[in-house]
Amino acid sequence: MEKGRINIAIDGHSSSGKSTMAKSLAKELNFVYIDTGAMYRAAALFCIKERLIDGHEIDERRIPAAIERMYIAFKYNSKTEQSEIHLGGVNVEKEIRSMEVARRVSLVAAVPEIRHKLVNIQQRMASIGGVVMDGRDIGTVVMPKAELKFFITADMEIRAKRRFEELKNKGVESTLSDVLNNIRERDRIDTTRAVAPLRKAKDSIVMDNSNLSIDEQFDFLLNHARKVMSDA
Ligand code: C5P
Repeated sequence: MEKGRINIAIDGHSSSGKSTMAKSLAKELNFVYIDTGAMYRAAALFCIKERLIDGHEIDERRIPAAIERMYIAFKYNSKTEQSEIHLGGVNVEKEIRSMEVARRVSLVAAVPEIRHKLVNIQQRMASIGGVVMDGRDIGTVVMPKAELKFFITADMEIRAKRRFEELKNKGVESTLSDVLNNIRERDRIDTTRAVAPLRKAKDSIVMDNSNLSIDEQFDFLLNHARKVMSDA
């Protein structure tokens, strides 16, 4: 690995602001940002389109053959200056943020074959170093040797209010109670699933941002990153 091109893992609860921080940190350090939640959301969209989900049940028998046809990749969009998620070559960046996908994604993310496929892609992307990756199992499973690991959390009601405002600004219809229930349910499934549950890695630095401004959060992460990079 090139000197200073460390890998940074950011895990935490749903809607804790991980991706906002991960994106800003990557931009500041000139690193690559990888949103693994977007990959699981694209997998959920795939399962919905392939009619693999019935209510709260996934047809796990059909999963292995179906996911052979699941192509998930990031492509850089020079207009938005961001890497955007594609499913089967189609840009699904907007579609994956719908409440329908949010309601199904944790179910889909608990399927071992799906995790296996996506973790392989994530590990390949991280192999060159200089990556900021956010998700639920990054410090524990995807990049257990990352030089720097953060675990971000906040009070559940605060997370729901923030997410509700974000969806409203994006023009996605929802209610605060729907968003709160969805976050509570995703936390429950994400922390209790058998494979790669959401856990704080032993060596990660915790940041509870319930009462922190965006600038305070950013400074906290950047100071840690600069310190580790100067030692690397
Ligand atoms: O980060 P985001 O909220 O977009 O993630 C959506 C969902 O994808 C999470 O609730 C979780 O179920 C799943 N996920 C996961 N492992 C990751 C990233 C996301 O299981 N590394």
